[in-house]
Amino acid sequence: MAKRDYYEVLGVERGASEAELKKAYRRLAMKYHPDRNPDDKAAEEKFKEANEAYEVLSDAGKRSAYDQYGHAGVDPQMGGGGGAGFGGANFSDIFGDVFSDFFGGGRGGSRGGAQRGSDLRYTLELDLEEAVRGTTVTIRVPTLVNCKPCDGTGAKKGTSPVTCTTCGGIGQVRMQQGFFSVQQTCPRCHGTGKMITDPCGSCHGQGRVEESKTLSVKVPAGVDTGDRIRLSGEGEAGTQGGPAGDLYVVVNVREHAIFQRDGKHLYCEVPISFADAALGGELEVPTLDGRVKLKIPEGTQTGKMFRLRGKGVAPVRGGGAGDLMCRVAVETPVNLSKRQRELLDEFRKSLEGDDSHSPKANGWFEGVKRFFGDV
Ligand SMILES: [Zn+2]
Ligand SMILES: [Zn+2]
Repeated sequence: MAKRDYYEVLGVERGASEAELKKAYRRLAMKYHPDRNPDDKAAEEKFKEANEAYEVLSDAGKRSAYDQYGHAGVDPQMGGGGGAGFGGANFSDIFGDVFSDFFGGGRGGSRGGAQRGSDLRYTLELDLEEAVRGTTVTIRVPTLVNCKPCDGTGAKKGTSPVTCTTCGGIGQVRMQQGFFSVQQTCPRCHGTGKMITDPCGSCHGQGRVEESKTLSVKVPAGVDTGDRIRLSGEGEAGTQGGPAGDLYVVVNVREHAIFQRDGKHLYCEVPISFADAALGGELEVPTLDGRVKLKIPEGTQTGKMFRLRGKGVAPVRGGGAGDLMCRVAVETPVNLSKRQRELLDEFRKSLEGDDSHSPKANGWFEGVKRFFGDV
């Protein structure tokens, strides 16, 4: 029995894209799968036939051999009578990307005709202050834009693309290969059905030119690393009148010398002197709106966190501003003079035999005892 043409088996055109092939195959595989058609010989044959066709056509090398030489061009062992079994793509392959077909992908697609331009991504580096307050920046992005002199057609001004003489505008040509008549994408117009006899000098017939364009981007207050600003239609120009893609400006906030950011809260470390920590005092701490005074009670330990409400970041998606957390770090004095050493030595002696001045060093029982003693 003569084999059917693989494209006919899958019910697609010669020039079908990979996605179209897969879609057609998936439909047949679901319809004729043996699990759904128990003891149905005809269905099993159809399933095998679809598998074989898809295995050949989904492989670029085998497909081109098949396009040129027909069934003789591809593995003759894949004969009709079993053996190879249900080869080809496996089921998880087929269904695994059902979702990717739904989400994203999908667009463009139409062969040869108008296609949407690609989306572009631009990484925007911001200082923390800019990210928190918002800013307007000017960026330059390299992109493909519609060629102005030819208005994107690729044909010299005053002329327009004409119907391809090789394929008569169909985009496909039939070639005789021995016994077989094979249809191929037209080599002259690459499937578009049109050809440019007098190409535009600016874009050399491409219809698009590379250009770097300057855009003003308004960055809202409160953005953080990873946030994206979408500039609709500012991506690459489409082909043959297709819509332009979008430009995604992706924010990356630089590290700050003083503040670390975690969502809406800011963190910073403030060094305080040993004496201030012991006696208490007033500190100047930095905030994004300038310095503020912070009272430190006596006996402050290193690592103690002070919260300044509302001095963090107001998130871009709304909600109140976060807080600024200042963690104090008690600094051990260095470069002591002789006099200072004497004073500290005297101080050390004064502590001897009395551990009530060292809350952390005391044992747990000492702590409990003192706790109850204080109450
Ligand atoms: Zn053509
Ligand atoms: Zn042009």
